[in-house]
Amino acid sequence: RAKTEGRGTLRFFEPGMDAQMLARRELELDLRRALVNREFELYYQPLVNIDSDAICGFEALIRWNHPTRGMVSPVEFISLAEEVGEIESIGAWVLKTACREAATWPEEIKVAVNLSPLQFRSGSLVLHVMSALSASRLKAERLELEITEGLLLQDTEATLATLHQLRDLGVRISMDDFGTGYSSLSYLRKFPFDKIKIDRSFVRDLAETDGCMAIVRAVMDLGYGLGMSTTAEGVETAEQLAHLKREGCVEAQGYLISPPRPASAVAEMLFTQLLSGKSVA
Ligand code: C2E
Ligand code: MG
Ligand code: MG
Ligand code: MG
Repeated sequence: RAKTEGRGTLRFFEPGMDAQMLARRELELDLRRALVNREFELYYQPLVNIDSDAICGFEALIRWNHPTRGMVSPVEFISLAEEVGEIESIGAWVLKTACREAATWPEEIKVAVNLSPLQFRSGSLVLHVMSALSASRLKAERLELEITEGLLLQDTEATLATLHQLRDLGVRISMDDFGTGYSSLSYLRKFPFDKIKIDRSFVRDLAETDGCMAIVRAVMDLGYGLGMSTTAEGVETAEQLAHLKREGCVEAQGYLISPPRPASAVAEMLFTQLLSGKSVA
């Protein structure tokens, strides 16, 4: 609890707080200033079509250039942003920035943006998407929104209504990290996703564990049957890619192809692809 001191200053740190709480509190205060201080940046990781080897899009992944801690991973601050009520403004910034940057890329190249379940609760997500699209003049068809299964756990009716509104705008909706949440299959029935992204935990052991292969195969069949495209996340070896290709997976993403890189590297990634003789998309 903050306590008022003599000179009207607020004391956030009290003797009872343990080190972990203190660190968290400090990060929270830094996070509240990060947007105005322009400390966020989007990195982009290519998604390739497995058949043609060509880049078909990039996933935008937020990075925080912290003034003293250096680069902070979203794994560390997204959940904090959700807890302290910063996710809506950060999410709006991500949408706006990703659309603006993607609008400078070739027409065939899509951009994927991750959404937090909390952005759906604010009631302004559709507006934020619309204004990001109109400010950038990016075609709605080039924007893919990635959501996780956790989203569909609560508020199902309202959430589904929002998903349908987004779909009506023309944007695509992907189910991210598929297979890591609960009752995945029933969610696929509730909403017609455009794409299923198979979580990297299944891709990792693809070559070694028979079970992983069976799961990946089942998800791909499922996607095919439901008319959804499938993307494999976290592809790190040529062997994994070969397995996925053989099983008919459409897209791949992972360190084997490229790690996420700054926006300034996108042109280079596309250019390298042109030089290697691969067509775009
Ligand atoms: P995600 O959406 O599943 O993104 C994929 C994560 O896997 C990224 O981590 C990416 O760098 C990493 N990755 C890609 N290829 C490989 C690989 O071959 N091997 C391994 N081990 N990892 C790989 P990153 O950038 O640290 O992001 C972590 C998570 O943070 C994302 O998972 C997403 O859930 C969340 N996130 C990132 N950016 C945003 C954002 O702008 N908004 C929201 N709400 N969440 C975001
Ligand atoms: Mg994602
Ligand atoms: Mg993912
Ligand atoms: Mg993931």
